[in-house]
Amino acid sequence: MIIEIDHKSGFCFGVVKAIAAAEEGIASEEPIQCLGDIVHNSHEVKRLSDRGLQVITRDDMQKMEGTRVMIRAHGEPPETYELARKQNIRVIDATCPIVLKLQQRVKKGAQEMQEAEGYVYILGKEGHAEVVGLMGQTGRRARVIQNVDDLKDADFSRPSRLYAQTTEDPEKLKTVAAYIEDRYRAAGYDPATMFKAHDTICRQVSNRGIEIREFAGRFDLVIFVSDPKSSNGKQLFEICLKTNRRSYFVTGPEDLKKEWFTNTERVGICGATSTPQWVMEAVRDRIREMS
Ligand code: SF4
Repeated sequence: MIIEIDHKSGFCFGVVKAIAAAEEGIASEEPIQCLGDIVHNSHEVKRLSDRGLQVITRDDMQKMEGTRVMIRAHGEPPETYELARKQNIRVIDATCPIVLKLQQRVKKGAQEMQEAEGYVYILGKEGHAEVVGLMGQTGRRARVIQNVDDLKDADFSRPSRLYAQTTEDPEKLKTVAAYIEDRYRAAGYDPATMFKAHDTICRQVSNRGIEIREFAGRFDLVIFVSDPKSSNGKQLFEICLKTNRRSYFVTGPEDLKKEWFTNTERVGICGATSTPQWVMEAVRDRIREMS
């Protein structure tokens, strides 16, 4: 049986950078805590927690003083930095540079829309860490939308700006932008003067959709490795499944089933931007053992 791991799957550069910062922090032997799971992958969170990286919440931060806290790649709202200052907590900031740039763009857009009495829409998942960080840039005045249904009651007599969470689906962004333009037209306004859609989807994510489609089509069977909490993982698995009906979602080697591999010659292993290489390798080794 031929088993191949997709060399383009696995951590994006933002996550690589955050994990490197965590490992450096752990090596310095001074206690270090991470605000939330460093990556949406329980295997990697456990690996780092076994080495000493504790996961804390914002509520925990209220009770801490003079320690070190790491901000993960998803970023944080300004209030988190203020809280850290107040509690004399040293911040190790591993916010991905792409997310940082998006935060700045959203902040600027929110200021413009405040002056113009307009609206800011963020296409993303309510409560997702990155979205919480983006909302913080707007003083919580933006509206988080998941699809066009969330815009049915929106006001199209005022200008608006649309931004997307970095892991959003590019097709969904196009659909939402086209819907908003249509609604402006229907209300008698020129969308070009009233509205601007910003494609803020991370290219590391949007390119992966194309690459994974190509990869999944080359095998009899595809094992997609991800944590169910990863939104990027869910999206990429959907693409695998559409391309190759014999695609299976696993969190690690423990989920593999021997019967999947009967009459199979070529197996492809791939994963999300939050899937560690070592977990994909453990999956490959387990398949070898089973076959
Ligand atoms: S997906 Fe893109 S924006 Fe998000 S952490 Fe990775 S590199 Fe940064």
